[in-house]
Amino acid sequence: MKVHEYQAKEILRRYGVATPQGHVTDSPEEARQITKDLGGKSVVKAQIHAGGRGKGGGVKLAKTPDEAFEHAQKIIGMQLVTHQTGPEGRKVKKVLVEAAADIAQELYLGITLDRAIGKPVLMASKFGGMEIEEVAHKDPTAILKEPFDAIAGLQPFQARKVAYALGLTGETHKKAVPFLLALAKAYVETDCSLAEINPLMITGQGDVVALDAKMNFDDNALFRHLDIKEYRDLDEEDPLEVEASKFNLNYIKLDGNVGCMVNGAGLAMSTMDIIQYAGGSPANFLDVGGGANEEQVRNAMRIILSDPNVKGVLINIFGGIMRCDIIASGVVKAVKEIGCTIPVVVRLEGTNVEEGKQILRDSGLAVIPADGMKDAAEKIIAAVAKGGN
Ligand code: GDP
Ligand code: MN
Repeated sequence: MKVHEYQAKEILRRYGVATPQGHVTDSPEEARQITKDLGGKSVVKAQIHAGGRGKGGGVKLAKTPDEAFEHAQKIIGMQLVTHQTGPEGRKVKKVLVEAAADIAQELYLGITLDRAIGKPVLMASKFGGMEIEEVAHKDPTAILKEPFDAIAGLQPFQARKVAYALGLTGETHKKAVPFLLALAKAYVETDCSLAEINPLMITGQGDVVALDAKMNFDDNALFRHLDIKEYRDLDEEDPLEVEASKFNLNYIKLDGNVGCMVNGAGLAMSTMDIIQYAGGSPANFLDVGGGANEEQVRNAMRIILSDPNVKGVLINIFGGIMRCDIIASGVVKAVKEIGCTIPVVVRLEGTNVEEGKQILRDSGLAVIPADGMKDAAEKIIAAVAKGGN
C-alpha cells in the first residue's frame, strides 16, 4: 500500500525524523493562512501517489501568502501528469503547504528489501533531488548500499559510515546519524517495503531534513498497523484492482488485450509468458486462488470483461483443489449476465474436467476449447486478431 507524502511525514515524525513544518489542505484560502503562519513563504506541493511532481508542475514556491493561494488554486483539482502517472495523470485533491526551505544540498536516501540477501538495505547517494533510477543507470557506484539486520536494526557505526560517505562532517554529521537510525527504525517497525527520502536536504544552517518522503507498506502486514491502513486512498488505486480486492482476487491490471483467468500464481505467470510467446499481450494478471467459489469466478470474469482494452479472454485452469465444474459454472453465469461478445478460449485440466467441459458445451456459449497452454494461447491470439466470436 502506498500513502501520500504528508502521511509518510506524519509517520516519520513519530520516529523522530526531521521534516519541514507544514499542513495539508484542500482549500486555497487555508493555504494562504498556513503560509502566513509559517512566516509568509511556503512551498505548495500536490499530494498524489506518484513521484516527479516537481517537474510536472505540482511543486511551487510561494514568496507571499497570496502566491500560495494562487498556486493552491491552480494545483488543487488539476490533472497532474508526471513520468510515473501515465499520460492520463492523477487528479490532485490536496496540497501540502510547508515552510520554504533554505536548501544547501540535496542528497538521496532509500531503504528497501534486498530479496537476494534477505535483508533491508539502506541506499544513499550524493545525487539527490533527481531520479535515482537515472543515477543508478549512469553511475552505479554513486549509490552506496548498506544492508542491515532487520531484528537488530541499523547500527550506529553503519549510520556513521553512511553519513561520512555522503560527505557530511561536523555538526551535520552528528545530526545525520540519529536521522538515519530513526528512518531505519520507522522502516522496520511499520513493515515498509520502501522508505525513500528524495531529496534529503542539508539546510544552510547544516540541519538534516526530509524534504520529500515516500513510504510503501507490505499489504500482508497491514493487519498490525490499523492506523496506517486508515491512510489508504482508494482514489489513487486502479478501480478494477480495488473491485477485485473486495472479492479476495489477486488481480493486477496490465496494458495488453488478452484477459486471463487462471488459478495459481505460478500458472498465471506462465500463462502471461505463453501469451507473449505466442505474440500477444496480457491485459491482466489474475489468480482466482485455489479455493475460489462460483461467485468469485463470476466476479473475476465480470472484472476482466469490464476492462475496455480486453478483446479476448483466456481461461486456463488446472483443477487441483479447484474443481473445473465450478470454474465452468462461474464463467457461464458471468458471460450470460454480462453478455460477452468477445472470444473466450478455455483450457481445463484436472479434477472434474469432463463435468466442466460438459457445462461449457451445454451453455450454448461460443467458447473455444483448447488442449494445452500453447494451443490455448495461439487460439486466443488468432481469435482476437480475427475479431468477434
Ligand atoms: P517530487 O518531484 O514528486 O519528487 O517532489 P519533491 O518533494 O522531491 O520536490 C521536487 C523538488 O522541488 C525538490 O527536489 C526540490 O528541489 C524542490 N523543493 C521542494 N521543496 C522546496 C522548498 O521548500 N524550497 C525550495 N527552494 N525547493 C523545494
Ligand atoms: Mn522527491
